[in-house]
Amino acid sequence: MGNWKLNGNKAMVAQLITALQAPATQHPNVAVAVCPPVLFLGQAQALLTDSPIALGAQDVDIHDQGAFTGENSAHMYTEFGVQYVLVGHSERRTLHGESDAMVAAKFRAAQDAGLTPVLCIGETLAQFEAGETQAVVERQLHEVIAHCGIESFANAVIAYEPVWAIGTGKTATPEIAQGVHAAIRAFLANLDAKVADGVQILYGGSVKGSSAAGLFAMADIDGALVGGAALQADEFAAIISAG
Ligand code: 13P
Repeated sequence: MGNWKLNGNKAMVAQLITALQAPATQHPNVAVAVCPPVLFLGQAQALLTDSPIALGAQDVDIHDQGAFTGENSAHMYTEFGVQYVLVGHSERRTLHGESDAMVAAKFRAAQDAGLTPVLCIGETLAQFEAGETQAVVERQLHEVIAHCGIESFANAVIAYEPVWAIGTGKTATPEIAQGVHAAIRAFLANLDAKVADGVQILYGGSVKGSSAAGLFAMADIDGALVGGAALQADEFAAIISAG
């Protein structure tokens, strides 16, 4: 899944999506999705007609409609063929002050509209160095479980994104990432083994074509949420090929 963040223009959307059609078609067993900025969803939807590439959004409001200037609702996304929506990306948590409770409400709003939320969780560098990774991701998961129930993860994706690895060029080693992914799955399995077994857990943080295969070889790493490398067709194609 490519998270384009605040990048792109119409020409780039057309070029990138066109270039990704062949690698996505050649790997039918790899689920591929792109999350362009909201303004380009209509253009992306038109380009993705009959394509195996799914469309995602980067954020969602908790309300369906009303006096909420600047926001976008989950139902609006469904009109643009959107299937996935990121909730709780660390940039939203940090730059927009989103609390765990707000993230849980967004998760629910997405599911209520029939979208699949991609719940982003992960620790900061200070928390990593203090050995708090597991406590942090469990707290972030707990809030969603408390609001939406463990069964809600039957229709959700989790993205573990250590904040210290996002946009820094520092990827967690496959072993470090696998350790956290396994802990996430074990935490969920305590509540519902079937849900834990079925949920896809993506890794995110400076994933590149060259690092993807090592990450995907790990038992509990089911895919990647890719930022910078998702803006380059050849890099993203290499990640798809590694899937
Ligand atoms: P980078 O791949 O640029 O580190 O970004 C990761 C990310 O935040 C994806 O959501």
